[in-house]
Amino acid sequence: MREGEKVLLVDPRGKRYLVTVSNREFHTDLGILNLGELLEKDYGDTIESHRGERFRILKPDINDIVAKMRRGPQIIHPKDAGIIMAYAGISPGDTVIEAGAGSGALTIFLANIVGPSGRVISYEIREDHAEIARKNIELAGFSDRVTIKLKDIYEGIDEERADHIVLDLPQPENVLPHAVKVLRPGGYFVAYTPCANQVYRFFQAFQAYREHFMKPRVVEVLVREQEVKSDCMRPKTTMLAHTGYITFLRKL
Ligand code: SAM
Repeated sequence: MREGEKVLLVDPRGKRYLVTVSNREFHTDLGILNLGELLEKDYGDTIESHRGERFRILKPDINDIVAKMRRGPQIIHPKDAGIIMAYAGISPGDTVIEAGAGSGALTIFLANIVGPSGRVISYEIREDHAEIARKNIELAGFSDRVTIKLKDIYEGIDEERADHIVLDLPQPENVLPHAVKVLRPGGYFVAYTPCANQVYRFFQAFQAYREHFMKPRVVEVLVREQEVKSDCMRPKTTMLAHTGYITFLRKL
């Protein structure tokens, strides 16, 4: 393992810690770890705390990064990010325009899927949010393919062409006039909005642009986790229910 590398440690209870390989001590309630020992280790090995508790060493994935990264505004949940990628068919090599960057969670999911040959250009109006997003994207190792622009996307899109536009901001209808100019035929306009009245307002504005798009699709994603025990399997009593509505428009 190399100095500065991000590593996931999993304790005997399954609790996860995202740490950096360095000559530092790391304190947990199961004892102190000497992170310098990671320099001699590999993924799958274990590292022991001074109390003799063993922590498994894993390579972090983007879900670990998103779970542990600094949060500014509310992030897109993985259940919603997943359906955005799948329904819009976002693929390696695509150029995606996003707004707002927020904490950078959706940006990280997008950057992961477009890969090193793709681009994510994310507009953000707040400097403090742009800074949080930039740091989180660097933590995920995607600074090479992501540009955060400090700009109001309602005022326009600088890029001449995009494969997809993905929005998580209050008034996605304000981006429709710009989207019809830059979105390639077959590309998707995706809008994530928490409230039903936002969807309604969006569709009122959409009427003026309907000739440019195929029939819209609006979904809400509900994931019901199951509790599996030796004598009983049943849905968990609590769930993350409503997060947002996702509107998909495909450009003609
Ligand atoms: N999807 C992000 C994530 O997963 O971390 C969270 C986005 S957050 C809910 C909404 C963001 O949109 C805020 O950071 C806000 O500053 C930004 N925003 C709002 N209006 C905007 C606009 N007109 N242009 C660019 N960014 C905007």
